[in-house]
Amino acid sequence: MAEIIDGNAIAEEIKAEIVAEAGKLKEKGISPGIATLLVGDDFGSRMYRKQVERNCESVGFNYIERTLPAETTEEEVVKVVQELNDDPAVSGILPLRPFPEHISDSAVINTIRVDKDIDCFHPFNMGRLMLGEPTLTPCTPAACIELLERVGVEFEGAEIVVVGHSNIVGKPVAMLALNRNANITVSHIFTSQAGNLAKHTCGADILIVAAGKAGLVTADLVKDGAVVIDVGINRVKVLDDEGNPVTNEKGKPKTRTVGDVDFDNVKDKTRAITPVPGGVGAVTNMILLGNALTAAKMQAGLE
Ligand code: NDP
Repeated sequence: MAEIIDGNAIAEEIKAEIVAEAGKLKEKGISPGIATLLVGDDFGSRMYRKQVERNCESVGFNYIERTLPAETTEEEVVKVVQELNDDPAVSGILPLRPFPEHISDSAVINTIRVDKDIDCFHPFNMGRLMLGEPTLTPCTPAACIELLERVGVEFEGAEIVVVGHSNIVGKPVAMLALNRNANITVSHIFTSQAGNLAKHTCGADILIVAAGKAGLVTADLVKDGAVVIDVGINRVKVLDDEGNPVTNEKGKPKTRTVGDVDFDNVKDKTRAITPVPGGVGAVTNMILLGNALTAAKMQAGLE
């Protein structure tokens, strides 16, 4: 019987650890704080901003909101990042992307102080990850590793296949697993286009999927007894038994959130699997808070 990995419960455990540690820091006069930086009013970014604010409140961290109009110049945005770099109340800076087109991601990210880079986007922190010396680790990749560790996975020599090679998830999670001496394969769109996805995924003891394609990983792509971590977040239409879209009271199609894995048909083949929602996402939020805590300690000379 597969274990359905309860990301919400694991997130609560991590939260309790963070609250305990934050309490000890408070006695030393240190209180972590996260600043979000939003430029414009992208809906997804606004939702995420609110969630970060709530999460900060729930563990007693300071929260600083910087929201700038979409027409703000790149120079002005960089100036705000510099102000946040210098603000002692801010231990971590979280740029909420996408930025408007006239603002380059790297101009903003490369300005963030490396010890305030709590989402680990800065090339310095990415470089440390490559060297196996991460201090702040990228949140979603670190959440995947945390989930695997908490279900007792042995990394050394394990065959790990990552589907997706983005800078945000695929590449860094592969590196974190490699740093734990797993055997890593990274597959991506060209693997799929060459018809080779199953060839790789079927050999995986641990399968980490971050492609952003609902239903990409079907049961025939999964080895019996594998541990499956589904990072994907996709909104899909709810269908009735005949495959027709179900509508809501306003006559609009009902939607639901699913991952990249065909959960219902895959779960029974696995040793353990994360659901979507209720898997990686909840833990990612806590890793961000954990990074802000680590950053606050680094800035106080404690790490
Ligand atoms: P990207 O779109 O940046 O990357 C997706 C990756 O998957 C790319 O490497 C892409 O290749 C590859 N890919 C796309 N289609 C296929 C396919 N058919 N077969 C194999 N590989 C494929 O997305 P992210 O990495 O940022 O995010 C991935 C998913 O994870 C998304 O659904 C996102 O919403 C979710 N996510 C969840 C988080 C969480 O906390 N739970 C946090 C961050 C993301 P190529 O680029 O060559 O097309």
